[in-house]
Amino acid sequence: MGTFTENYTKMKPYNASDAIQDLQYFGEFGGVNPSISDSSTYTFLSAKTMFDTFEGNTEGCYLYSRHSSPSNLYLGEALAALEGTESANVTASGMGAITAVILQLCSSGDHLVSSRTIYGGTYAFLKNFLKRFDIAVSFVDITDPEAVAAAITDKTRMIYCESVSNPLLEVADIPTLAKLANDRGIRLVVDNTFSPLSLSPARLGAHIVVHSLTKFINGSSDAVAGAVCADSDFCLALKDVNDGAGMLLGSTLDSLRAASILKNLRTLHLRIRQHSSNAAYLAGKFREAGLRVVYPGLESHPGHQLMQRQMNPDFGFGGILTVDAGSAEKADALMEMMQRENLGYLAVSLGFYKTLFSAPGSSTSSEIPEEEQQEMGLGSGLIRFSIGLDNNIERTCERMLRCMQQLGVTSESQPAG
Ligand SMILES: *Cc1c(COP(=O)(O)O)cnc(C)c1O
Repeated sequence: MGTFTENYTKMKPYNASDAIQDLQYFGEFGGVNPSISDSSTYTFLSAKTMFDTFEGNTEGCYLYSRHSSPSNLYLGEALAALEGTESANVTASGMGAITAVILQLCSSGDHLVSSRTIYGGTYAFLKNFLKRFDIAVSFVDITDPEAVAAAITDKTRMIYCESVSNPLLEVADIPTLAKLANDRGIRLVVDNTFSPLSLSPARLGAHIVVHSLTKFINGSSDAVAGAVCADSDFCLALKDVNDGAGMLLGSTLDSLRAASILKNLRTLHLRIRQHSSNAAYLAGKFREAGLRVVYPGLESHPGHQLMQRQMNPDFGFGGILTVDAGSAEKADALMEMMQRENLGYLAVSLGFYKTLFSAPGSSTSSEIPEEEQQEMGLGSGLIRFSIGLDNNIERTCERMLRCMQQLGVTSESQPAG
C-alpha cells in the first residue's frame, strides 16, 4: 500500500487558480466572454463531413448539442484547468455526472467499493438503484485503507469516495487509495464537490474527479450542473454516440447555464478563501464555547494532518462545518432561530453567499437508514453549516453563539464571541 513518504514525496501543490486565470477568450465578435451557442443543431456544408462527425472523426465539428456545444466545451476546458486533468465533460447535475461515470465503468456482475459516508443521492444510487443492473457495492470506512483493500475483489472496477465527505467531513487519503487502485488495475473516482481548489484529487492520483457545480463552483444557488474531469479518452468514451453513458443517458447541460457558470467560476478563488476563513473562525470560536464542532481545519479533527499534507496552499480547509446540537429537537429549534435572526437560511445545498444550514439526518442523508446513520456517527442533532461570505464574521459569530446560548446548546457561562 506504500509508506507515507512513498505516497507523499512526489506530491506538488497545483495552482488551479492560475490555470483558470491563464485561459484566454476572444468571443465571436472579439468579446471578452465567449459567445453563447444558441443552437441545438449544427449545419454541415457537405454530407460526408456529417457522416465523419457521427463516426467521431472530425475535430472541431459540432453535430447536435446533447453531444457537445461550444459553450459546454468552454466550461469543460475551465474545469479541466481547475482539476489539472486533460479534459472535462459538463452535465446537467452532479448526479448526472456521478451516475454516468459509474454506469460507464461498471457492467452487470461487476462490483465497486465505496466510502460509506457520501452524499445521500449517491448512496441511494449505489445501494438501491444499481441492484437493477446486478452491480454489487461494498461500503467501507474510507479512512481505513486496509478495509478498502480487503473489500476489493476480482470483479471490482472502481473505488468511489468524496475527498471531504458529506456530511461527516472525513478526509480521504487520495495518494494511498490511488496506489491501491493502480495496484489492482481499477479506477479511483473522487467527488470533489466539498473542496474545489483546496484539494486537487487528480493531481494526487485519482483517475476521475466528479463535481456538483451546483454548490461552490457556481456559488449562487441559481443553477444545477455537474462535471466529470478525467483523461481525454474517458471523456470521449462518455460522449460516444454508440455506447457513451453521458451521451445516451442524456444529462446535458444547457448552453446558457454553462456560460453563466463559467463566469462565476472566475471568482471561485476569492470565494473559497472567504468561505474557508469564515468557517475556520467560527469553528475555533464554537470549539472555545464548548460546542461539538467538526471542521477539518481544527487540529482536533482526525483528518486534519492528512488534509494538510494533501491540500494546495492559499484556499484553506473549506466552508463546511458541522455542529452537534445534541438532539433533533434542539437542532431544529436552533436552525429556525438562526433563520429568524437572518444569520442564514434553513436550506440544503452549499456554497451560497449566505450561510445555509440543514440537519443531514432528516434531509440530505435521509436516504441512509437510521441505524446506519448511527453507526457512521451521523447523529440526529447534527447540523451541517455551509458558511457564507459574511464580511464581518465576528458579528455573525456573536449572534450565532447568542442563539445557541438561548436554546441551551452551549452553556450560559461561556463568553459569546
Ligand atoms: C449536491 C451533491 C451532489 C449532487 O449534485 P446535484 O448537482 O445536486 O446533482 C453530489 N455530491 C455531493 C458531495 C454533493 O454535495
